[in-house]
This record gives sequence, structure tokens and C-alpha cells, in this order.
Amino acid sequence: MYSLAFSILFVSFIILTLIVRFWLASRHIRHVLTHRGAVPAEFAEKIPLAAHQKAADYTVARTKFGLLALLINTLVLVGFTLLGGLQWLSVEIFKLTGGGMGYQLALLAAFAVISGVIDLPFDYYKQFGLEQRFGFNKMTRGLFFADMVKGALLGAAIGLPLMWVMLTLMDKSGGLWWFYAWLVWSGFQLLMMVLFPTVIAPMFNKFTPLEDQSLKSRIEGLMKRVGFASKGLFVMDGSKRSAHGNAYFSGFGANKRIVFFDTLLSRLQPQEIEAVLAHELGHFKLKHIIKRIVMMFAISLGFLALLGYLKNQVWFYTGLGVDPLLLPGQSNDAMVLLLFMLALPVFTFLFSPLTSIGSRKHEFEADAFAARHTDSRDLVSALVKMYEDNASTLTPDPLHSAFYDSHPPASVRIRHLNAAAAA
Ligand SMILES: [Zn+2]
Repeated sequence: MYSLAFSILFVSFIILTLIVRFWLASRHIRHVLTHRGAVPAEFAEKIPLAAHQKAADYTVARTKFGLLALLINTLVLVGFTLLGGLQWLSVEIFKLTGGGMGYQLALLAAFAVISGVIDLPFDYYKQFGLEQRFGFNKMTRGLFFADMVKGALLGAAIGLPLMWVMLTLMDKSGGLWWFYAWLVWSGFQLLMMVLFPTVIAPMFNKFTPLEDQSLKSRIEGLMKRVGFASKGLFVMDGSKRSAHGNAYFSGFGANKRIVFFDTLLSRLQPQEIEAVLAHELGHFKLKHIIKRIVMMFAISLGFLALLGYLKNQVWFYTGLGVDPLLLPGQSNDAMVLLLFMLALPVFTFLFSPLTSIGSRKHEFEADAFAARHTDSRDLVSALVKMYEDNASTLTPDPLHSAFYDSHPPASVRIRHLNAAAAA
């Protein structure tokens, strides 16, 4: 009874999510195409019409591709759950492994491999079809597949021990297992924040200390002004894979570092780079990063507590197409992790605007910080260049943008910055 009700709820949320996503995408495409004919007045002197139209075409192509991927992913989701895919997989893996921890880990690994294989044609098309067509792909096919193999090995090397710890806690640590699992998960996240910039990212890219002396002293001056100590300024060879440019900030404590993509450095003037950096430092100085981490930990505690409850509810399994008693004597822990991971996004998607709102608020604050410590006109001109180079649309549908975008639309950001400059 409960299980049928849960299946109906699950399907209803899937359909609702599909409707909302298709509706937002079609609004977005229509809006972008309607404004394709002319560069918005406020950018008319800065961005050529051809670049504006390229951004429109790129946005439409990406949005359509996103819808295709959404449809396939939804079919895969239903196939794994209600149509019995996971149930079938677990029986086959059980026959191969004979049960126990080996069965549990093999089930998780098999799921990861199958998902990866399904994603592969999409990833491939995205890089060598879509990105290629708009001139953004800089990857060779060799590099694409090398990345894939490296990523899979790394995922196994990190994921399997982590899952072994999680499954052991689920099995042996009693009713509060989810709390211990949360402690391990949080510790793991913190460890990754240290290891990612120092160990993992360098496996894929080369990071060289910023060498341009005049730029370096300019940046060091800014860091001193705002009171920020960092292990270093690095340039990353992003051009090896893509023409898209970016700057980011990673690590924490003594490990924090600022990373510029070489693609970005080659396009911006020193004062623009300083302004972009001031924005990134703003995120740090205004404690956005620590707030985000605390929020992430609180949310994962809530979700793990929920999982602690669902693990013992038969309807959660049967409602998602799995009979928990099918393999007697075998633990369902790996299975419940998979079901939870598959079902959760279906129920949380409609709340994603909340994250976007929080994130956009931080972006405005970081922009205002940059305007206080550098010339806001430099940030404006850097933003315009970044929008043009990345073919980001200047005319997103307002509702689409409010729902998904972590950053406010360019015109709104620039209006705020110009107001700051006038004040
Ligand atoms: Zn930002």
C-alpha cells in the first residue's frame, strides 16, 4: 500500500520536474532568439553583433542538448528503479560474487560503470560536437579518453575505500550509523578540499606559479590591502582542454591558492585581472566559502538522517522497484545507497532556486567588495570580455535565470557595479 503510494509520488515528481524543466528551457530559447537580432543597448559599444549572435546560438544549442540528456537520464532512472534494472543487476552481481562485502562493493561499482558508459556518448558529443562547433574544444580525442581512464581509476581508488567504510558503519555501528557516517563524510569532504588543489587537480593540469612580475606585485598589493594570506598564485593550462576562461579559488587554511586559467590571463589587462581577483577574495573575506561548507554539512546531516530512517522502510525499496527480501541473508545497504542517490534529486530539484538565490546574493556581495577595493570599471570590462569569450548570453530568460543561475545576469551585475562606481 505504502509502496504503491510512494511509486506514485516518485513518478509524479519525475513528471513535474520534466514539465518545469521543459517549460523553462523553451522560455529560455524563445527569449534568447527574440533578442538575437541586436546587442542589448548597454553592451552595444562593447560587444560586436557577431559575438552576440554566436552566444545566442551557443545558448540555444546547449539548452536543447540539455533537454535531450534530461530525457535519456529520466529513462535510465526509471529503468534502474521502477522497471527493475537495479533488482536485476543485484541478482547478477550476487551470482558472480556470492554475497557479502564483495557483493555490496561490486554492486556500487557496476552501477558506476553502467552510468559512466551511458554518459560517455553524451560527454563525447558535448566535447567534439557542441563545443567543437563553437570553437571551444581544444582537446584531442587521446586526451579525452586519457582523462576518462584517469578519472575512473581515481574514482575507484577514492570511492571504493570510502564506500567500504560507509557500508561497514551501516552494518556494524547500530541505530546511529547515519551520524557516524556523517562524521566520516564530512571529514572526507574536508580532506578532499585539501587534496583536490594539491594532489588531484595537478594530475589533470599543469599549475605554474604566476611569473609576470609586475602582475604579481600588483596582485600582492591587493592581497595586502584586503588582508589575505595565500600559499600562491597559480596559472593553470586550461587551454589544453577548452577555450573557456575562468579564475577560481581553492583549498582552505594554509592551503588556499588562487588559480587563473591561462586562457583568462591572456585576454585580460592587469587591472582587470586584479578586479577579478578582488571579487574572488571578496568571497573569502565575506566568509561565503565557510558559510557554504557549513550549509553543505548541515544539509548532508539532514539527508543522512533521512536515509537512516528510509533504510528500514520496506516501502522505500518496493516503491522503487526493488524487493529487499529477494536475496535472503544479504545486506541491502549498498542497494539503499543507490536508491537514495537516484531518488533524492527527483524530490529536491524544485528547491534548486533556493540555492541559486543564496549564491546570487553572494555574487553581488563579492562584486561590491571588488568595487570597494579596486576600480569597479575594471571589473565591468573584465566581465564583458568573459561573457563574450565564453559566449554566455546577455539576454537570458529572467525566470530561467532565477531558477538555475548561480550568477546574476550580466546586465544586472553591471548595473549594480556602475551604481557602485557612481556612489
Ligand atoms: Zn563569484
